[in-house]
Formats: sequence, structure tokens, C-alpha cells
Amino acid sequence: MTKRAGYRPSLELVPEVLSGSRAAIARMISRAEGGYAEAAEALAALYRNAGKAHIIGITGVPGAGKSTLVATLIKSLSLEGHKVGVVAVDPSSPFSGGAILGDRIRMNEAAQASQAFVRSMATRGHLGGLAPATLQAVDILDAAQYSPIIIESVGVGQDEVEIVKAAHTVVVLSPPGLGDDIQAIKAGILEIADIHVVSKSDKPEAAAAVAALKGMLKLGASGSRSEWSPPVLSVSAVSGEHLDNLKAAIRRHWTHLKATGELAVRQREFCRTRILNMARHLFQEQFQEGAEDFERQLEAVVRREVDPMAAANVLLGWNKGRHE
Ligand code: GDP
Repeated sequence: MTKRAGYRPSLELVPEVLSGSRAAIARMISRAEGGYAEAAEALAALYRNAGKAHIIGITGVPGAGKSTLVATLIKSLSLEGHKVGVVAVDPSSPFSGGAILGDRIRMNEAAQASQAFVRSMATRGHLGGLAPATLQAVDILDAAQYSPIIIESVGVGQDEVEIVKAAHTVVVLSPPGLGDDIQAIKAGILEIADIHVVSKSDKPEAAAAVAALKGMLKLGASGSRSEWSPPVLSVSAVSGEHLDNLKAAIRRHWTHLKATGELAVRQREFCRTRILNMARHLFQEQFQEGAEDFERQLEAVVRREVDPMAAANVLLGWNKGRHE
């Protein structure tokens, strides 16, 4: 990394983040995103100060109405006195650039009218779902006393499943008018919902979509990670119709998690996933840094002089004999 003149060490920013400075929060998130080694200690300190926020995941197919709903939630929750944080995960696809930008503007306007903090991040095709920086951004906002923190991610691949490993309450948004074959089924997205929402309840097709979704859930009869039975709601982010139902369901789910001990179980799973993902991430980075070593091992494996396990052991610096 090349540090600009006047670069302030990340550790200096920690007290400012903790006291809620928006500038310090924005900088810390950029440093997490940049993967600066210098920021590791500061991120560790912030991690130790996080863990209080209610993390809500909102996912659904493109066009489901996620960013419109998030903007509406920001306004409504802020009016109730909540300090709302939003981390919006952009897919790295170059095709969605324009639309995403428009959505972000809407959300940013909502954020400016309130105390909310909104940040969008690129996923950059990270192996295995949410990028480490996404969860570090959540830690940063959490340590700065934001709650709830909404992670908005497009349900088009791994990410919507990964959100289960990061959010206490997962809201799956399905747009009406997709017919019986609601697309979400294909992505396996329905199973991960704690709360189902059919968006755009102001549209006439919404009622049929609710009925279809309820029918489908009855067929599957799973759709839940615990004894909680996921409600099926319909909300209009545009008119605000039934928004109170969604807010009530989110609150009820949070209370349920705390009352049943499920919260501690999920937190533990989140931590397990984060360690494994971080290990994978560091491992990949190490390979990139040592590209020459990697290529040498690759050649040897291609020539069948070395087997893949031995090559991996060498690259990890474990030498051999680990499996003896
Ligand atoms: P995202 O891709 O899931 O973030 O979806 P957007 O929030 O960008 O919404 C996609 C389209 O649906 C936009 O044209 C929105 O204006 C529209 N939309 C979103 N929410 C509603 C709603 O509650 N009612 C109606 N009628 N349209 C909506």
C-alpha cells in the first residue's frame, strides 16, 4: 500500500469510530476494504467492541425492490430513534452498474435525511460468498453503536445463502407477478428466510403471490432454521403500506432469538464461518503473493512429479508428513 502524506494510523481512528465519527467510520471501512495490513490491529479492537447490534439481512432477486425497501426502512426506523447502518453488497457484475447506482442514490438520500450510515461495497468475486470486508464493515458500524445494521445483498448466487451466516434475521423479498414458479425456489433462497416478504403490495398481483408463496412453504414444510415459523407478509415500500407489520415481525424475531437461546447458537455459527472464510481468504492471498512458488508447484503437479496434496502442503509451509 502507498500511504498518502497525512495518513493517520488506523489505531488512532479507533476512539473516533467508537464515539461515532462518520468520517472515521468511512475511513475505517475503506481500510478494511483495501485489506491494509496496517488496519488489522484497529479492526481487531473494533471487533472486541462489537456484538450488540441486531443484524438484518435483506435479499432477493434483482428488481425485487430491496433498495427501495431499505430506503423506506431507513427513514421509518430513524424516525423511531434508531441509528441504522446499511452495508449494501453490490454484485461485481459490470451489467448491473447503472441500476445499482440509481438505487444507491435513493438510499443515500434517505441516509442524509437521518442519522443512518449507508455504505455499498463490491463483492469482487470473493470465493465463498460475502467478502471479509463486508463483515468488518458491519463490525465497525456495530462498534459505533449502530443498530439495526442491514446487510442488503442481491440473491443471485452464493451471497444470498452466505447472508444466513452473517445476519440474525434474514428477510427474503420476492416480487409479485413471477407466476407460480417463483424464481427464489431455484436459488434455494426460500429456505433461508426468517421472514418472507412479497414486495409491491400496492400491485394487484401481490395477493396471488402471497398465496402462491404460502402454498409453496406448506409443501416444503421446512423453511425455518428453528422452531420459529417464518411469516409471509406483503409490503409496499413505495406507499409504506404494511411496513409496520414488517417492523413488528423483525422485532418479534429478535425477541424470539434472545428468549430461546438461538441468538447465541447463531452467533457461534457466524464466528465459525468467519474464521474459516478468513483462513481461506488469507490462503488465497498468500498464493497470489507467492505466485512463483505456486507456478512451480503447479508445473510439478501437471508433470505428475508431485501430487496436489503435497503441493498444497509445500505452499502452506507445512512440508509433508501432516497426514502420516
Ligand atoms: P432491487 O433490485 O431489489 O434493489 O429493486 P429496486 O428497489 O431497485 O426496485 C425495482 C423496481 O421496483 C423499481 O422500479 C422500483 O421503483 C419498483 N418498486 C420497488 N418497491 C416498490 C413498491 O413497493 N411498489 C411498486 N409499485 N414498485 C416498487
